Amino acid sequence: MSEEIKEVAKLQSVNALRKTMDEYFLRLSTAAETGNKKIAWCTSVGPAELLYSMGFEVYFPENHGAMLGASKLADKYIPTAVAHGYSPDICSYLTADIGAFLQNETPLQKNGFKSVPKPDILVYNTNQCHEVGDWFMYYAKHFNVPILGVNTPLWINELTPSIINGIANQFKDLVPELEKVAIQKFDLEKFRETVHLSHEGCVLWRKVLETAKHKPSPINFFDSAIHMGPIVVMRGTQYAVDYYKILLTELEERIKNNISSIPNEKLRLYWDGMPLWYKLSSMSKLFAHHDTCVVASTYCNSWVFDDLDPKDPFESSAIAYCKLFIVRSDDAKQNVLEKLMTDFSIDGIIYHDAKTCARNSNNRFGLQNRLNEKNKIPYLEINGDLCDSRCYSEEQSIIAIETFIKQLSTRK
Ligand code: SF4
Repeated sequence: MSEEIKEVAKLQSVNALRKTMDEYFLRLSTAAETGNKKIAWCTSVGPAELLYSMGFEVYFPENHGAMLGASKLADKYIPTAVAHGYSPDICSYLTADIGAFLQNETPLQKNGFKSVPKPDILVYNTNQCHEVGDWFMYYAKHFNVPILGVNTPLWINELTPSIINGIANQFKDLVPELEKVAIQKFDLEKFRETVHLSHEGCVLWRKVLETAKHKPSPINFFDSAIHMGPIVVMRGTQYAVDYYKILLTELEERIKNNISSIPNEKLRLYWDGMPLWYKLSSMSKLFAHHDTCVVASTYCNSWVFDDLDPKDPFESSAIAYCKLFIVRSDDAKQNVLEKLMTDFSIDGIIYHDAKTCARNSNNRFGLQNRLNEKNKIPYLEINGDLCDSRCYSEEQSIIAIETFIKQLSTRK
């Protein structure tokens, strides 16, 4: 890169984001210290609505894994998990998280936690991958607390009634066990209200992401990856709804005033796969420097559960959590990607092949070629990982990205 610096326009909402996330962690640490509320651990695309509706504070280990990656601490902890028998080839959220736990450290100590909040129950959904079950089992055994799971079939092509009914029934089956731990009865009206709030939050989040259809885009993927925090951990609460109203207002103002995320948007890219959490900021600067905005991504779109419907909370939860991109067949994924390419006026695609997350690496079974044959949008594949920076060659990737951008520019 030359010396010229092209700054990414900073979102003012980041202050409200910080406050929203700090307050979330305060509620969790208060529950952990005082026991005023029970704590459930949940996977990032697990049944958060059900848990919030039953009065739990909800903690998400994947969010902790992302924090370890973003704070560049994962490499310090992964070897400890490996020494305890966890392969370096499995999910590096898992190995970073368990390694940190074994070292009795967490970035949450800055938020007043002594350790990660002790769970009263753990609840997972295998819609994203099966590794979450093994991950949660470690903690269930360690803390000697119950663990519940929704087991979703992978590679769903068509959302058939038998799949939806089966998953809706699994959601319902969680209730009696949750009641025992929550020491309160399930209240259908509260569940409806939580599903309503989750739907509202998801629609706002979708609108936030859709502002990037505008040319030039008011937001880029690297910002979205930070601002998605509330929809991941507070889905189903008023807190997430309030935050996304603030963010959406700022982005709409930007569009009105022709303020773009990067100073001189010439190219628009799509990012498929996980973020490289430890390189978020430098990646953001790299693309801005080359007048390129990464306007959309598979990852951030994954938290748009707009099929949730309070009229039928169990069935609509089953639909929403089975419709998720990661759980679909390659044909279904290709349909989603084709539409996104058109909607966001994409010039090129970057596939991040994350070493330790096969489920979020969509370039392993020819999807990238099939999509390219259909829509002729050029693509680049880079190798890396979400948390384990040892899997990522920065020099090689920068050269590849810069060359790709040059090639795309000549097509314009
Ligand atoms: S989907 Fe990937 S990143 Fe997420 S828990 Fe599973 S292996 Fe880890």
